[in-house]
Amino acid sequence: MKKGKAEEEWKKLSDEVIAGTSAWREKHPKATMREIEEEVDQRLSVMRARMIADTAMKSEMAEWEVGEKEAVCPDCGGELQKKGKKKRKLQSREGQEIELDREYGICLKCGHGIFPPR
Ligand SMILES: [Zn+2]
Repeated sequence: MKKGKAEEEWKKLSDEVIAGTSAWREKHPKATMREIEEEVDQRLSVMRARMIADTAMKSEMAEWEVGEKEAVCPDCGGELQKKGKKKRKLQSREGQEIELDREYGICLKCGHGIFPPR
């Protein structure tokens, strides 16, 4: 991901959150505090998930760039062979599923499939 690309996406998302909430409010002029809260939370959670995923991917890229020597199996210390990107699903604190495109490696010694440490 290019520098600044994530930020552009976030700005777009925040615009959508703002515009979407305004539009929703117009359609629901009598919404209760509770309904408004749920609506805003739901919209923000989409942006939240995106920001977490993008930020996590950034820090991960830095880790893999350290060099081949750093990529070792946590079980046996064997060398990892990079297998490219693979989807990994993580649960956020709020129970929301966050999907990351993560680098994936296979241990040449024990065959263990490993995602790099975070
Ligand atoms: Zn291993």
